[in-house]
Order: sequence, then structure tokens, then C-alpha cells
Amino acid sequence: MSDRMDSVAHGPIAAAAPAARRSRQARVVWGPRVVTVGGDAPVRVQSMTNTDTVDAIGTAIQVKELAQAGSEMVRITVNTPEAAAQVPYIREQLDRMGVDVPLVGDFHYNGHRLLTEFPACAEALSKYRINPGNVGKGDKKDKQFGQMIEAAMRWNKVVRIGVNWGSLDQELLASLMDINSRRAQPWEAKSVMYEALVSSAIDSAKLAESMGMDGNQIILSCKVSGVQDLISVYRELARRCDYALHLGLTEAGMGTKGTVASATALSILLQEGIGDTIRVSLTPQPGESRTQEVVIASEILQALGLRVFVPSVTACPGCGRTTSTTFQELAKQIDDYLRMQMPVWRHKYPGVEAMKVAVMGCIVNGPGESKHADIGISLPGTGEAPAAPVFIDGEKALTLRGENIATEFHQIVENYIEKRFGQPQAADAA
Ligand code: SF4
Repeated sequence: MSDRMDSVAHGPIAAAAPAARRSRQARVVWGPRVVTVGGDAPVRVQSMTNTDTVDAIGTAIQVKELAQAGSEMVRITVNTPEAAAQVPYIREQLDRMGVDVPLVGDFHYNGHRLLTEFPACAEALSKYRINPGNVGKGDKKDKQFGQMIEAAMRWNKVVRIGVNWGSLDQELLASLMDINSRRAQPWEAKSVMYEALVSSAIDSAKLAESMGMDGNQIILSCKVSGVQDLISVYRELARRCDYALHLGLTEAGMGTKGTVASATALSILLQEGIGDTIRVSLTPQPGESRTQEVVIASEILQALGLRVFVPSVTACPGCGRTTSTTFQELAKQIDDYLRMQMPVWRHKYPGVEAMKVAVMGCIVNGPGESKHADIGISLPGTGEAPAAPVFIDGEKALTLRGENIATEFHQIVENYIEKRFGQPQAADAA
């Protein structure tokens, strides 16, 4: 009782929510279409192909797969004259296939030449990624960077000034280390490296603005591969500027390690309002689809409550109270089914992406969790009566029994979606 009185005394517990950082808004345009990044736009999902851009058809097919998985911008490598020559053709193929996604060109070393010598490539891309560490050395650096900025202004394109610690501007780093050595109390080497990353991005953006580029058309990134390093660098980057930020843990790695590291780093920063567009740089497992990085990026945003992409399936982990795999199989079947249907359902059933489905393993949390979902099933645990109550909109609706529980529940979910999210027919509407 005294505990209850205490809770009254200290007031309600505030719901956690991501903070908001006011960033400028960039407009990534292709044809008459536009994707906004930053400002009041939702955090965007990006991805990158791993095909040879010279293979225009293979690249267009992979871009299509990534777009269908939910990628809102797709980056392609533009590394040679042959690749640059194929970019307009890739754009054309995508338009022919009805793939509504902007292309981002990834340039290193020779971007100034490719964007000048291949104007059709410069025009077909919607955004250029420029790495200040790879634009040239010495007195060529600013000149070649300037040529890329001029191309972006000529074609009205957004640029991402993307710094990466694997290709950090070595002249800038050496100069900052020199300054550091003269400090009365020198910073740690790591702090100098952080400073070089942030300065490289912001100084390059300021240089672009001094050349006449609109600051709204500039997006910054400072990618590193360590979680704590990324958090440190982006906090400082966000503090020092209001450009839209592209967020990603570079070289995150493979499988579980890459997924966990990316989710950890990105979630902490997104919760602080840092990040306007994200990419998960996952190395695919052999044979794994490239689209996995899009699925993970979307899941991060959905888990944080920043975006909603697909209906969520709540499933318990299972334990000694349920020794069969029935509920695991059903949870997977439902999850796969919902994801597979989304490209069609997104248009056919507006709002279905916010639906919650629960598939639970026994009576302990099954009915309770199922009631919290829009539709849920509590499967019988070991020793329980072979019956599976189904809950719809918080109420027990029916109980399934027998061998076909999975098939019948599947049908119930489909009927529920049709009834709740289906568009009224013309006669009904009248
Ligand atoms: S709902 Fe039942 S089966 Fe699932 S984890 Fe909880 S106790 Fe175990």
C-alpha cells in the first residue's frame, strides 16, 4: 500500500520517445518525384547495391529488389567511365519497370572527371556521395571537390559529404595532430581522430556553401566501425551543424554481429534525434539477399516507433512449458506471409502496416499478450488442453482445435485484414 502511495506522490512515469533535432531539409529529386531528407521528413531507409554497375541489367534488378524491400534511396558504385556510361541506362530500365526510387552515385578519386565527362550520368543520378578523403591531394583537393559541387549545382542535385575513417583526409589529420602536439595538455589520439572526422565533414560543407551551394542540399555523414566511436562522432557532428545527417555504422560486419552492432549504435543516436537517413552496412552471408540490410534498417526504425513498415508479430521465446515447435512454425509462417504481402497490401489495405499479431506458446502470457494485439493466438503448452483461443481486438473470439490450427489461424488473419483494412466497394460506399 505504501508503495502505491509513493507512486501517487512522484507522479506518472513519462513515456520514452525519440528526441527531435531540427535539421535542414534536402530534396532528392528524380523526374517529377521527390524524397525529402531531414527537417520534418521521416527518417529514410537507404541501401547500396553490390553489383558491377557496368552490368546495367543486373544492377537495375538489384535496385528493384532493394526498393521493393523498402529502400527509399539506392546507392550505386560509379567508379569508371564504363560504369558512368551505364548509369542513364540503369535509370531508364528502372523507369521502364516502374521502380520509383532515386539513384545515388558513389564517387571516389575520379568523381570530378566522371561527373564532367558523363553529363547524362550526372543528370540521371539524384544525389552524389562525395568522400572528402578521396577527392585528391594537395592543391588538387579543393579544385576537384569544387568540380563535383559545380556538377551538383548545375544539375540541381543533393550531395552527401561522406567522411569515413578508413579513408580520412590524411593531410587534415596530420595538421590536427601537429596542432595537438603543441597543446599544453595534448588530447588523446582518438579525440584528434574524432575531430578530424567532424572537421572534414563540416569544413567541406562550408566550402561547398562558399561555392554557392544551398546548405539545404547538403547531407553529412561521418562513418566509423566502432559503436562508441560512432556515438561520440555523431553527437559532436549534430551539435556543431544543422545539416541533415546520414547515419550508419560502416563495415558493421556479418550476420548477428553486424546486425546487433548497427542496431545498438543507430538506436542510441536515433533516440537522441540524430540521424535523418540510415543505412545498415551489413556484409551479406553467402547466398543471402542484399535486401537484408533494408529489412534491418526498417526494423530499427519500427522498433523505436519512428516509422511503421510491416505488421508486427509478437511471439514469445518459448520455454519448458511448450516443447513442440508448433508455435515457432506458426509465428514464422505468419511473419513471412505478412512481409511477402506488404508490397501489394501497402496499396490495397492502407494502415495494415500498423497491425499487431501475437503468436504465443502457452497460457502463462498467451491470452494477455494476445489481448494487447489486434489479433492473437495462444497455443496450448505441454499438458494443456489441445485448444488455442484466438483473440480479436482484445476479445476472445473463438477457440481452434485439432490438426489444422495453423491453416485456420492464417485464414482468420486474412479475413480480419480484408474486413478491417479493405477499401469499401463502390456500392458499399454509396
Ligand atoms: S508464454 Fe508460455 S511458452 Fe511462451 S515463454 Fe511464456 S511461459 Fe513459456
